[in-house]
Formats: sequence, C-alpha cells, structure tokens
Amino acid sequence: MRTKYALAALALSAATATTQAATTINIHRGDRDTVSTKTHIIVGSTTPGNTVTINGNKTHVYKTGAFGAELPLEHGDNPISIAACDGNTSSETRLNVFRKETTADSKNRPAPYVQETAIAPTPVLTLPDAYLQYGNGDDRLGGSKMGYLADGIPLKVIAETEDLYKVELSQNRTAYIPKRLTSPTDLQPRQANTGSWSLTNTGNRDRVSISLPHRMPYRSWIQPDPTTIHIEIFGATNNSNWITQRGDLGMIEYADCRQTDSDVLEIVIKLKEEHSWGYSVGYTGNNLTIEVKHTPRLSLKHLTIGLDAGHGGEYPGATSATGLKESEINLDIIMRIRDLLIKKGAKTVLSRDGDYSPTMAQRKQTFTDSDVDLMISLHNNSGGSPLKEMGTSTYYKHISNRELASCLLDRMLELGLKNFGLTGNFNFSLNAPTEYPNALIEVLFMSSLPEEEKLADPDFRQKVAEQTVRGIEDYIGKVRHSVTNRKR
Ligand SMILES: [Zn+2]
Repeated sequence: MRTKYALAALALSAATATTQAATTINIHRGDRDTVSTKTHIIVGSTTPGNTVTINGNKTHVYKTGAFGAELPLEHGDNPISIAACDGNTSSETRLNVFRKETTADSKNRPAPYVQETAIAPTPVLTLPDAYLQYGNGDDRLGGSKMGYLADGIPLKVIAETEDLYKVELSQNRTAYIPKRLTSPTDLQPRQANTGSWSLTNTGNRDRVSISLPHRMPYRSWIQPDPTTIHIEIFGATNNSNWITQRGDLGMIEYADCRQTDSDVLEIVIKLKEEHSWGYSVGYTGNNLTIEVKHTPRLSLKHLTIGLDAGHGGEYPGATSATGLKESEINLDIIMRIRDLLIKKGAKTVLSRDGDYSPTMAQRKQTFTDSDVDLMISLHNNSGGSPLKEMGTSTYYKHISNRELASCLLDRMLELGLKNFGLTGNFNFSLNAPTEYPNALIEVLFMSSLPEEEKLADPDFRQKVAEQTVRGIEDYIGKVRHSVTNRKR
C-alpha cells in the first residue's frame, strides 16, 4: 500500500490535467475583487509544458504546471488577462481586481486582551493529558505551555475566561489550564511537607521518588552546562531529612533540593552526561516520581526512532498551487526515512502510516508507549511569497533538543535550500514531550512555486529522507563523542 502514497500526490495533478482541456487555467490565489494593497499576487496552474502570459508578459511555468506573478495595481479597476497555450490552442481567463483607498493601518493593532472574571476560590482536579500554560493568550498552536501535569492533582481556581481557568499554584505563581482538562472536586489544594526520598536504578532509568501527603502541581525544565533537570513543586515545604542515594545510578550524579519560596520547593537533578535522553515527571500514588532515562547504546542498530508525518485524513494541512497535499508529501518522506532507518538496523515507530489523522495526544501516546529513544516530526510550511524560495527550517522547544534540531538543519542546507532558520521555544505539541529528544522539520513551503516543484519530485523527497537520517546519525555521533571524552 505504501507505493500508493509515494505517488498519490503526483497522480492527483496528472489526473486533473487529462480530464480537462489541455489549456485549462486554474486560479489558485489572487481571484479577488477588492484589495487595498499596492501589488497583487496571482498563482495558478495549467497543464505542464504550456506557455502562460499574464497581461501579455510571458510567465515562468514550473514543471508542476504552476505559475505566478506579482502585479502592480493602480487605484480603481485593474483588468488582468491570463492566457495559456499548448502550441496549437490557447485559452484565456480574465480577472478584475479593484484597488480601494487604504484606511487606517489595521496590522499594528495590539493582540486582543482576554478578559478574565475573578471567581471565589474553587478546587478542580486535573484530567489525563492536562497541561498548564503561562498566559491566557492564544496563537495558532495554542498558548505558550508551561508543561504537562499528571491527572488527579487538585488546583485552586481564582478566575476564568471562556475556555480557561486561572489557577493559583503558589502564593506568587499563577497559570492557566483549559477547562476541558479539569473536573470538579472536593479535594482542597493545600500546603504540605515533603516526606522521604529515594533514588534507584530501575534498569534503563534512574528513579527519584519523593513522598508527599497528596498530589501537588509541578513544572519542570532542563538546563545545559552542566545538564540539570529542575522540578518545582508548588505548595511543598522541605521536610526531608535525608536523600538516600545508591551508588549504582546510570544517569543521575546527584539530586538536591532548595526552598525557593516559602511554598515552592525546587528539586535539582544533576546528570552525569551532557546529553539527556529524556525524563518524565508524574505520580505513583502520592509519590512524585521522576524517571531519568539512561544513555542508550549509541548506534542506530540499538535505537528506536519515532517518526511523525504531520496531518492526514480530514486535515490535509497546506495544499499547493497544483493540488499537492502536505499530508501526502509528509507521509511519503516519512516512509522513505523509515525504510532507510530499517536498512541501518534501527527500529521505527510511526504515529500514522496511512491517510488518517491521530490527535496530538494520540501521537504522543504512541511514542511514549513504545519508549522511543528519539522522535522526528515532519511537516511542510506555508505562507510568505509564492513566487520565491522561502527555505527549510527546524524547530525545538526544550534547549536540550537544540543540538538535534541543528544537526538536522545543517544536513537539509546541504541540499542547497534557502535557510529559513533554527527556531527554539517552539510551541508545537510534539516538541513539548520531555520523555525523549525530539525536533520538528519543516522541509519547504507548499505555497512557494519553486519549492512545490522540488517537493513534487520523488528524487528530491528521497534526498530529504537521506539527509534526515544523516542528521540523526550526526547527533548520535556527537553524543558518542561527548560520552567518550567524559570517560577518558
Ligand atoms: Zn503542517
């Protein structure tokens, strides 16, 4: 079934062409009556090989059949004539774009303030997949996440917006949680002393266990130089007289704690290695449990790689000028990466292997359930100018994943692509997990005509897959180098 996806996207545009006249013109963008801009971008498609003129000027036609131009506009009516010719017959499409006078600049308005309503303190309980966000703002990826929370934690609600509760974590710290991720409760959040600690080696992880009288909210982050994991427990006061540390830990050098506010306890876990292979924070009963993964054997033969093809099913993502779907291009490249990794002896776990769309929570669950060592999510971008190359880019959220994202970008750039950049603190759901190193690749822009031409080419998609695997190997090589240096 895989070959179906490898070529489905290309078959789509070919099929369209054969059922219509050879000189058919489809307008993908710019078919608008009234605008207030000084120039206007037209993007369309015709049968590959045709010549196209716009207002009498010959326009480049890409191998996909796509074409585009940016036209200057006069005030008032701007007639536009687009003609396609296959050598024998020709056809013409006429548009009229009306340029109106510009009114006040609407682009510089501040982001809307989200009105909150204070409410009498009320307890709620976290549900599975709960997370906290710093503010009540929103963007296309959701508000900036503070981190995920285990279920069954009572939180004190002090205000609300339409979709969010504002909760008080400690006397000086508030956060927001989507209402749908909470349920009513009688359990009151309250300040408490910590009990005994233990640190144990469970095989491929070290486990820190801190006993608490009830579940409390927390947040965690990782810091480089030296690599330390930090967990703040809100509402906790240090009352642990000893921290039992056994000598056989695989990744943790030591664990320590500091009372940073009268009701905030910070746990600091120093790692033996520079590179973290992930950690989880959750509860076992009322014990806060932090599991820190050991460095796996550093060769693809011993690693399980999670692969995520963006979108799918009823959510195709971006569609290009000639009708290529981002979901199909993403899956095609992911399948090529999978084949290359399997050839090198790696195990792979896919979040989807067909044209359907698991939710972000399901994708994350697939990867944590199969204990992947590393995860790559692959998308293609959209936006900017359709008439020029926009470039390739990689993304991470946690600073510990910067090096992985950077290794991947360096290999993509070897394909001669424009550099759209390395982006940190990125709020994409699949960059949020701390359980395994992860990065997002946005290969190119579906909306860019020269980049669509590249993405439509199976040879190019194969090269992208090869470079992704090289990028993963580069990262493993860097970890191996640093582990060897430490042992020297
Ligand atoms: Zn996408």
